[in-house]
Amino acid sequence: MSKGEDEKATRRAEIVRADKQYVWHPYTPMQRYIDEVDPLVVERAAGARFFDVDGRSYFDANSSWWVSTLGHNHPRLVAALGRQAAELCHVSLAGVTHEGAAKLGEELVAIAPPGLTKVFYSDDGSTAVEVALKLALQMWHNEGRPARRRFVALDGAFHGETIGAASLGGVEVFRKPFAGVLLECIHVPTPEGDAPSDAGYARAFEALEKLLAEGSDTIAAVVLEPLVQGATGMRMYDASYLRHARALCDRYDVLLVIDEVFTGYGRTGSMWACERAGIAPDLMCLAKGFSGGMFPMAATLATRRVFDAFLGAPERAFYYGHSFCGNPLGAAIAREVLAIFREEEILAKAQPKAARIGTAFAAMGEIPGVSRARSLGMIGALDLSKGEYLGALGWQVYAEARRRGAYLRPLGDVVYVAPPLTIADDELETLLGIVEESVRAALR
Ligand SMILES: *Cc1c(COP(=O)(O)O)cnc(C)c1O
Repeated sequence: MSKGEDEKATRRAEIVRADKQYVWHPYTPMQRYIDEVDPLVVERAAGARFFDVDGRSYFDANSSWWVSTLGHNHPRLVAALGRQAAELCHVSLAGVTHEGAAKLGEELVAIAPPGLTKVFYSDDGSTAVEVALKLALQMWHNEGRPARRRFVALDGAFHGETIGAASLGGVEVFRKPFAGVLLECIHVPTPEGDAPSDAGYARAFEALEKLLAEGSDTIAAVVLEPLVQGATGMRMYDASYLRHARALCDRYDVLLVIDEVFTGYGRTGSMWACERAGIAPDLMCLAKGFSGGMFPMAATLATRRVFDAFLGAPERAFYYGHSFCGNPLGAAIAREVLAIFREEEILAKAQPKAARIGTAFAAMGEIPGVSRARSLGMIGALDLSKGEYLGALGWQVYAEARRRGAYLRPLGDVVYVAPPLTIADDELETLLGIVEESVRAALR
């Protein structure tokens, strides 16, 4: 080993030692992590890739948990952060305002689905959902309908980590330890099948209709991940279900909350997934791509009707807020993200890349051992199945991809890509090639 390599190895070992001794990782069985895992030790990132301390590069196939939609360290975002940091890093949003929070609100409302005219800032996807739930509950309270306390979500839903947001979750292993303390949420079937004419759609439509027809007096809101249920395994469904849900919520006067935390900012091909269905929600949750992977920040957008329910006497107000609500650094970055989407034509330029993901994943669906392939916008997913090894296969693909220079964290036995929308064409080809080779190698 050369002296330089030796130093790198020592540095890496020291980081891993401190990490394994002190850090408790998210979504990680720590016993196995400490005993067996050799973690990636990332030092820097640029565009669609990050680099470990040894200087090896990896394609970031999931945009670092779906956040770095514009790639890592976009120069314009880095510059915006620097400019804002020199001026104003933090001020509370209580009785105070600043240009970033005010203008970001205006810019979001200008491109939001129709009717969403008010913006409440928070920190991340979970708090954006938590805000939506609390707004829904208090709106009904303020309107003299306090019995409307229950929520409706889809089987397999994922809406975040706080107790409120976790209550909506339909992934059993995440819910189970908290049984008994979660809010009341009724789970309805996710539409299943290849086309809206399939029986799985009719079943899902009917279940929601029956529930709202019989129980709307006690239901505060229906909460949906539009078109794609991300965390449960990139399950995709047709836009007709969203239109159906919107019509039912209108008929029974139930609020519709659309959680665009994953799907927003172009992931499915349009700025918001609910646009593809031609619907507008009563509350819309934004995070992740919101701040381009630079800063934790989120927003919940509300209609005039929701907002107006909080006007009048002081006890009607929404007594809620986090320390960092509307933080100036986050607001400056979030505005620059919107400017980049406009000026760099991110959505239009992603179209051919999305088409390429579509053809590549359709072809990978033919690999023996792949039971199903699907894609939508800048998402491609494969279900792997090979008898009793269900669940472990995804991690074998992960290991194969890591050797080949891609970070391809699976969702159980679902292998997927959700790369930055700005990934270059040749990089996308290389990544797709790595995915295919890795899947073949793991299934061999
Ligand atoms: C990730 C996610 C959340 C939670 O966001 P965090 O920023 O991790 O708190 C909520 N809803 C959806 C649809 C998500 O994908």
